[in-house]
Amino acid sequence: MPSINRATRNAAQRRYHARHRDKLLLEMHEYYQAHKAQHREAAKAWRTANPEKHKASIKAAKDKTRDAIRRKGREYYAAHREERLAYRRAYYAAHKERAQELARRWNAANHDKVMGYVHQRNAKTRGATIANLSAAQWSAIKVAYKFRCAYCGRTMNRLTQDHVIPLSKGGQHVPENIVPACSSCNKRKYNKLAPTNTAAVRLML
Ligand SMILES: [Zn+2]
Repeated sequence: MPSINRATRNAAQRRYHARHRDKLLLEMHEYYQAHKAQHREAAKAWRTANPEKHKASIKAAKDKTRDAIRRKGREYYAAHREERLAYRRAYYAAHKERAQELARRWNAANHDKVMGYVHQRNAKTRGATIANLSAAQWSAIKVAYKFRCAYCGRTMNRLTQDHVIPLSKGGQHVPENIVPACSSCNKRKYNKLAPTNTAAVRLML
């Protein structure tokens, strides 16, 4: 039975390799050192002949490293979670005013993002389906409405995101369901359906 012979031979080979591991590694190393120039030339020729494969292998190596770093980071955080949280709490307590000032400044500079978060949180608490509205989509909507409130038509610097079908009535936080509104119209409209046709906006998104 040749398959048994092969299995026996493989097992014998594995035992041999295990027994002579150091010697074999040294031999491999010496062989590589002796043929270094040829190896380099061959590798270079392969890279030139297979640029796409070469690029892919570099990417794969980078991905592998990045994944390993992330995994280590997650493992470290998991193992030191309480410690890290305690440190952050202590740091925040010691720098509270500075942290609050930074948060205020960030919120002021990122008004649209903040409003997006607020809407998402509101939608979540009402059990609506969450979908993202990117900053670019929100900009496109405002351009489509020429920076005017969809209800009173006034041009405003600071427009709020108003949901045509309110989130509380099953509307979604998606570009098709969002129009710009001044804050007073937004507040007044609360939970009523908007008489706005958003077809023009849809074309722009
Ligand atoms: Zn208005």
